[in-house]
Amino acid sequence: MFTQTQVDRFQQLETPFYFYDLNLLQQTLNECYEAAVQYNYHVHYALKANFNTKVLEAMQKVGFGADCVSGNEVKAAIAHGFANSKVVFAGVGKSDKEINAALDADIFCFNCESVQELQVINELAVAKGKTARVAIRINPNVDAHTHHYITTGLEENKFGINTWQLEDVLETLKGSNNLEFIGVHFHVGSQILNMDVFKNLCLRVNELQDWFEEHGFAIKVLNVGGGLGVDYYHPDTNAVCDFKTYFKIFRDFLKVKQGQEVHFELGRALVAQCATLVSRVLYVKNGQKKNFLILDAGMTELIRPMLYQAYHHIQNLSKGEQLTATYDVVGPICESTDCFRTDVQLPESQRGDLIAIRTAGAYGEVMASGYNLRDRVQSVYAE
Ligand SMILES: *Cc1c(COP(=O)(O)O)cnc(C)c1O
Repeated sequence: MFTQTQVDRFQQLETPFYFYDLNLLQQTLNECYEAAVQYNYHVHYALKANFNTKVLEAMQKVGFGADCVSGNEVKAAIAHGFANSKVVFAGVGKSDKEINAALDADIFCFNCESVQELQVINELAVAKGKTARVAIRINPNVDAHTHHYITTGLEENKFGINTWQLEDVLETLKGSNNLEFIGVHFHVGSQILNMDVFKNLCLRVNELQDWFEEHGFAIKVLNVGGGLGVDYYHPDTNAVCDFKTYFKIFRDFLKVKQGQEVHFELGRALVAQCATLVSRVLYVKNGQKKNFLILDAGMTELIRPMLYQAYHHIQNLSKGEQLTATYDVVGPICESTDCFRTDVQLPESQRGDLIAIRTAGAYGEVMASGYNLRDRVQSVYAE
């Protein structure tokens, strides 16, 4: 929902741009923080969802740590004031340069995704005379019959270490004097709205942590990753996630032993609703079977619909609420996939109308590209 004053302001601005509501962001962060802190849970913000400076500042101020997936994200987190001791570094392909920089920064932990990566981190740590704290990212490989939510089932994928490789992991850890094993890490997917997924994850973590302890490896940190989904269909009526219910699932089902910390890595759930992509209609093209609204924003500003067939609520801010027309809403990029959605119900629209594409705060601006030598998309903030 936008006020008339905001729409009037948008009229004065060059489009497209991301419009940030930092008050909504703050409200979201506060609710998340309060729901987590009552159980002593630690939240690390997954920077890859949105590394806009103002977003990072807000995350750091509320007291969250940083979950990074590249050396530059580690640098950005530290530059924005996140304590080095609250930075974790995940990712299947950490380069030597990135590992060395993270070792120099004495980050909290490397979330490791292969046996070879453990060996490399150990070698680089030896060369620096340092000890690297590591957690093992485990692919929970949940049986598809009992846990049908994980479509990958027992299949292998590039993320994480499979359970049948854990014996090798323990051998490697035993032989690596410059690695300190601190715990286990999981991240089962994204945009998860079915809380049973998290319940099943808890049950699997309980089994796996027992396995480690039976083999003589104490676990200090249980990192259950992120993945909490948001309501892309109702950005106004459901603007803040139900963090209470989410954390309560872990409270109810995750076995936490004396002295253990529970870590979360939320990205989307914290930032998705705080930004809208605002664009203008350049042209209305009436075809025989279809009408097209051609916007001045496309896949170069927001690629989620084209990349994952993701749904975003689309509104015409210049016209009333009567949805009397149907359009395919497309961008200007020279690709036929450059379409935000087909058959969108909208008011009768015309050149110059402002079009809002909602819930664009996560995996939006960060995936913007310069394809077609487009201008870099701008950010605008609510006053
Ligand atoms: C992307 C990612 C996250 C955040 O996922 P969301 O779905 O945005 O919450 C957390 N942990 C890891 C390891 C990730 O790669």
